[in-house]
Amino acid sequence: MELIKIKLSFSNAYLIKDKKSILVDAGSPNEADKILGAVQKAGINSRDISLILHTHGHFDHAGSTAELKRRLKIPVAVHANDAFMLREGRNGEIKPRNFEARLIQLLVPNSFEATEPDILIEEEMDLHDFGVEARIIFTPGHTKGSISVLCNNEAIVGDVMMGGWAGGAILGSRPNYHYFIDDIEQVRASIKKILGFKPQRLYVGHGGHLKFEDVRERFLR
Ligand SMILES: [Zn+2]
Ligand SMILES: [Zn+2]
Repeated sequence: MELIKIKLSFSNAYLIKDKKSILVDAGSPNEADKILGAVQKAGINSRDISLILHTHGHFDHAGSTAELKRRLKIPVAVHANDAFMLREGRNGEIKPRNFEARLIQLLVPNSFEATEPDILIEEEMDLHDFGVEARIIFTPGHTKGSISVLCNNEAIVGDVMMGGWAGGAILGSRPNYHYFIDDIEQVRASIKKILGFKPQRLYVGHGGHLKFEDVRERFLR
């Protein structure tokens, strides 16, 4: 199994390459070409991608989902609590956690092309049926439907936390709270839950990756 990071304009998407491959997150609007270019570069035949899986429903993770679904003709999965974001092509309520976050919020578009999700994730599940040895766990707090993916001793955690400052551009390997937090207590519990699986590397939606020890040091001490 191989985990491939796709660095996009505003966020990261990931490919989990195994017997088949899963695309985790689908970037901002108009990034389908970039993502498919990365698929090709990773030596993955686009016909071997079995699923577009979302860590959550924000515009920078589901912005090109509709276009990718049209081109790849594969199912789209999101947690049931974030399904409305894909369905309606909007972020829902965004709660900035400080002044910097309020400024960032001004740059955040609140609409993207809507698409109907095919799979609503309602329980933690194995991805074996999609040809990938990985597992979905629930990690709410950034949004109500945020999930993480555990594979080998690594984790893709979306926006449960982020790397560095300025959306990951500065000191991207330093763990930090994300700008937008729906429920801080849930975020803390989710971070604890993820660390309980002892992933050596944590792959985030912005910046990264993060090391297990750094994340533990930042949030649990
Ligand atoms: Zn987000
Ligand atoms: Zn994001």
